[in-house]
Amino acid sequence: MNLILMGLPGAGKGTQAEKIVEKYNIPHISTGDMFRLAIKEGTELGQKAKSYMDEGALVPDEVTIGIVEERLSKEDCQDGFLLDGFPRTLAQAEALDQLLSNLGRQIDYVLHVDVDQEELVERLTGRWICPECGTAYHVRFNPPKVEGKCDKDGATLIQRKDDQPATVKNRLEVNIQQTQPMLDFYSAKGDLVAINGAQDINQVFADIDEKLQAISS
Ligand code: AMP
Repeated sequence: MNLILMGLPGAGKGTQAEKIVEKYNIPHISTGDMFRLAIKEGTELGQKAKSYMDEGALVPDEVTIGIVEERLSKEDCQDGFLLDGFPRTLAQAEALDQLLSNLGRQIDYVLHVDVDQEELVERLTGRWICPECGTAYHVRFNPPKVEGKCDKDGATLIQRKDDQPATVKNRLEVNIQQTQPMLDFYSAKGDLVAINGAQDINQVFADIDEKLQAISS
């Protein structure tokens, strides 16, 4: 079961990734997590990746493709894997195709957790933080008892710059522009499966599961 999981920030990709790897017992390969770990451990890879990540830029393709190739060659990937955050460029997608085909393998599905932009903006801008104690609320999913006030100390809640509508919209636009070529690439190959991510978390997983049952049986 060779899978790629795609989805914009706020689409719930992380939650679904956890559920997929738990049920199907395949490794979760997140290039972002691999880079963060490398930075924490101070490895050579971490040193290469850090300056790009700090600027919010992509780590160069040859570095990224290299770590994925190494990771996919490990024993635990023999029965499948879930790629998350990779590929992010067409060159990465093409390199992945090539390296899988060298191994006599191919991608089974590219699961795209799809949520429309308006809903994503609502999800991502709903977070408010208490400046005193750091408690986080969400206007829709976890509202404070009194609007705009912290339940614990009554302080007036604030919104981080990252969560403000203009910043969120900009982040989404950049992501959409980056992702679209990959969606087109996999759609042309017939690998792309759109999953409606605007549903309840368990229903989203049920839809993914239905697709995966077909290839695992
Ligand atoms: P993520 O956790 O997936 O958002 O990734 C965090 C950061 O790691 C990104 O902003 C990039 O700097 C880097 N990164 C993760 N995956 C890739 C990739 N496939 N290609 C290039 N850079 C990546």
